[in-house]
Amino acid sequence: MSTPTRRGFFGALGSLFKENHTPMRPPYASLAATFDECQSCEGMCVSACEENIIYRDKSGTPFLDFKISGCSDCHKCLEVCVPKVLSDPEQFLQGYAKISMLSCMSHHETICFACKEPCMDNAIVFKGMFNPIILPDRCTGCGYCISLCPSEAIKIVA
Ligand code: SF4
Ligand code: SF4
Ligand code: SF4
Repeated sequence: MSTPTRRGFFGALGSLFKENHTPMRPPYASLAATFDECQSCEGMCVSACEENIIYRDKSGTPFLDFKISGCSDCHKCLEVCVPKVLSDPEQFLQGYAKISMLSCMSHHETICFACKEPCMDNAIVFKGMFNPIILPDRCTGCGYCISLCPSEAIKIVA
């Protein structure tokens, strides 16, 4: 019988981190956007996304999934959005990332900096070697830290 690893243990804890169920929508939509137009749209944003992070739910409404990458702010989804749901290049993502202290290995005395390097906004702050937090006023919600966390401790609060 295999011995459970620390990573596996904290990954299992990560599955318990379900603080928020509101999906992250693609960038460049107004705060008031309902995404109703998406339901009768062909969804060109999905194939245009250079990071392959746009998906659609059963109704056709797009959402971002950061399990493989983050949003590069490339504007490709905005450029192909014919109904102009995505139309404001100044309005980036409407959410920020948060670390679960329960799931994060660094909050349990294991050295890990996997999330720090991809954060170009320096939004992830450690206290010495441990206990990272994400500063909401610096985090853009880009999601690049999420797939790199070995214990699935980072979620978007949309
Ligand atoms: S800005 Fe680029 S990377 Fe971000 S969701 Fe749109 S197409 Fe994808
Ligand atoms: S979502 Fe982006 S900006 Fe926010 S902490 Fe992660 S890498 Fe940094
Ligand atoms: S990548 Fe960051 S959030 Fe994830 S376990 Fe390591 S220190 Fe914690």
